Amino acid sequence: MTEQTLVLIKPDGLARRLTGLTIDRLDASGLQMVAAKMVGVSEKLAREHYKSLSDKPFFENLIKYIRGEFHGLKDHRVLAMVYRGENAIKKVREVCGATNPEQAAAGTIRGSFGRITTAGQFENVIHASSDPSDAAREVALWFKPEEILP
Ligand code: UDP
Ligand code: MG
Repeated sequence: MTEQTLVLIKPDGLARRLTGLTIDRLDASGLQMVAAKMVGVSEKLAREHYKSLSDKPFFENLIKYIRGEFHGLKDHRVLAMVYRGENAIKKVREVCGATNPEQAAAGTIRGSFGRITTAGQFENVIHASSDPSDAAREVALWFKPEEILP
């Protein structure tokens, strides 16, 4: 089934100059990038994006992390993209690897570039939607319909 999925290059990916390497891995998946933009992540957008995790102990630090506050990104930037293709959601998740960088397979984006800070934050370079309902919600949260190629 043709799917769309939201991808974010998180502040650690941008600050550590991993943008090109990350997009290269996604390119190799054969999926098509159909939207891309730099976004300054507001507090509201960050909380809405991660609202299903609001009861987790790491939530407040996650909001700081996605807003670039651990990486000196004063403009709160991330690179937001939409990828489309056959089984895009699962394919992108496979290229990303496991949430915990220590458990992410070698050769995945998170396995190659992710780290766990001494404060326990998973800095794992990339966000990718986890299932069809999340993907639909997240694409609509980050992009207007006219920003996505038909
Ligand atoms: N996260 C964390 N500690 C945890 C679990 C998650 O710091 O124990 C962070 C991590 O950056 C992760 C994000 O919260 O990517 C969102 O968590 P989720 O469970 O949705 O993982 P993902 O879908 O990103 O793999
Ligand atoms: Mg998730």
